[in-house]
Amino acid sequence: MSILQKTKQSSEEVLNPYQIVQTQIETAAKILGLDRGIIDILKKPMRVLSVNFPVKMDDGSIRVFEGFRSQHNDAIGPTKGGIRFHPDVTMDEVKALSMWMSFKCGVVSLPYGGGKGGVICDPHAFSKAELERISRGFMEAIADFIGPEKDIPAPDVYTNPQIMGWMMDTYSRITRAFNPGVITGKPLIIGGSKGRNEATARGCVYTIKEALKEAGKQMKGATVAIQGFGNAGRIAAELLAEQGCKIVAVSDSKGALYQPQGLDLAVVTQLKDSSTIMNYDARYHLQQAEEILELDVDILVPAALENVITLKNAENVKARIVAEAANGPTTPEADKILFQKGILVIPDILANAGGVTVSYFEWVQNLMNYYWSEEEVNQKLCEVMVRSYNEVSALAKQYDVDFRTSAYMISLKRIAEAMQVRGWV
Ligand code: GLU
Repeated sequence: MSILQKTKQSSEEVLNPYQIVQTQIETAAKILGLDRGIIDILKKPMRVLSVNFPVKMDDGSIRVFEGFRSQHNDAIGPTKGGIRFHPDVTMDEVKALSMWMSFKCGVVSLPYGGGKGGVICDPHAFSKAELERISRGFMEAIADFIGPEKDIPAPDVYTNPQIMGWMMDTYSRITRAFNPGVITGKPLIIGGSKGRNEATARGCVYTIKEALKEAGKQMKGATVAIQGFGNAGRIAAELLAEQGCKIVAVSDSKGALYQPQGLDLAVVTQLKDSSTIMNYDARYHLQQAEEILELDVDILVPAALENVITLKNAENVKARIVAEAANGPTTPEADKILFQKGILVIPDILANAGGVTVSYFEWVQNLMNYYWSEEEVNQKLCEVMVRSYNEVSALAKQYDVDFRTSAYMISLKRIAEAMQVRGWV
């Protein structure tokens, strides 16, 4: 293919996540033969709140922050999904993320619909006190819109248990009651669940294990590249290494490292905590961070943001398995290419569903005020992930479709049935 054709093709590709999720819905709904009414309901979030809230900065100045909370569909249960703090957050992105949450909860059969929130900000640019005021300010702005039986937030990109703790405190003060069930991913002492912090990565590792098992391969010695070294990426690296995989490449927003003999994860993690992974031995720096996606590895784990595997690079992906720890890393056009190439994509709505699954366990524990051991949580998580993986895989084989399509089919069927029995359609 000439460079000209490539450029033309890539410029034609839709990269708006809201349009992308609509395409994904249409693709699966068509195979299921769903009614147009059902599809039309699901192609848009039922409700989106847009807020602007003032925050006093440390120097005394006032900054107004913009944020969103989208609730996609609550046919099966209250809406559920994280809150993202990122400079590139847009309303369309938050809407799409809330829709992916619905299908994620559907595929692992949680009694939730999908929600998502986002604040346009770069949390690294603020002091801890400013970050606390931003977190509390956003919670205050959305408090009427959410609740333990309505819509339950959680961590997402660049948010963490401390932020969940501040938000839970603000909500509890507003409602004048101890209300841990309003948000998940909290610190343990105020109702967090054991195992929640590792859950996204752990769930992803369970799906990788199943995929390798199906292919008659072993974890031991399998080579892995991980794009993104946040909560999901870094814990996935650790857990995969524990299982005997060889982590040969990792990247973060500053760049990528590649050492074919395997990276020293303890060193990489230490560098990430103190500065950047790019302080690792310079011999192993990749020229372009995106090259990590094209390495010849057994397993590629995109664990950062949307749209990293696109028309531009899908043809060059060499991994045998792509396990999407991130939300929306692969575009529909890239999906087609990877499927043709025989690459197994374990889609985000399955691969990263471990996070919301243990969030669900956290919420259940909060509502009953009775707390489980870490073994119990991990055991239950394993059951959910293994069962869901096998359901998705079996349906994909039956219809000769990729795993994303079969995962959507499972979800769409569940949500459609709930809407039907509730008399919405
Ligand atoms: N933000 C995570 C996700 O995208 C977790 C959501 C949750 O725990 O509610 O799945």
